[in-house]
Amino acid sequence: MSSSFFQGVYFGLVIVASFVRLVYTRQYKRIPVAEDHRTVADALLISLGQGMFVLPIIYVLTPWLDFAEYHLPTWAGWIGVALFAVSLWLLWRSHADLARNWSPRLEFLEGHSLVTHGVFRHIRHPMYAGHLLWGIAQVFLLQNWIAGFSMLVTFLPGYFYRTRVEERMMIDHFGDEYRSYVEHTGRVFPRLRK
Ligand code: SAH
Repeated sequence: MSSSFFQGVYFGLVIVASFVRLVYTRQYKRIPVAEDHRTVADALLISLGQGMFVLPIIYVLTPWLDFAEYHLPTWAGWIGVALFAVSLWLLWRSHADLARNWSPRLEFLEGHSLVTHGVFRHIRHPMYAGHLLWGIAQVFLLQNWIAGFSMLVTFLPGYFYRTRVEERMMIDHFGDEYRSYVEHTGRVFPRLRK
């Protein structure tokens, strides 16, 4: 299987992920914001992550990044497809479970309630887990040191910052309800010991 096959699969899956996001973004825009906790650092990290998406596009449309190619066996490409499929499932399920309680930002919407069911029953950050898997899948699907790693490299600092600030915000808002939820769940891996 050629590397352009896996590049095609990558962009196909990105289109599906963008469609899921678009549907829930339209819903989000209809609900008024009740509490704003946005920070400049968070906005910068989000913009950096979104901006980095230009690298995969440059990689497939131009020869500029060809000097940084690496080659993996076909089975590694299929691992990338499988990881991206799980990532898409997590993105979809986390949006479906959060429903009207989702915001792309650090904020609470009117009537915001704590979601602890579905994928949130086991982990607190299924959406970020999905993005993490996407970043890992990209390393297998876009076999280039720059384009392949661009998502992981930009996502990781944002992930560490966002989870820390978001959890503090959730504790301030939901108090003991969120503290008890934390005790029963893992961040991105389900908690094995109760
Ligand atoms: N960290 C979660 C959600 C990401 S979206 C995940 O990875 O799946 C970020 C926004 O979702 C936060 O600003 C907050 O408004 C909301 N949020 C996060 N966890 C939530 C929960 N368990 N219940 C309700 N809203 C939540």
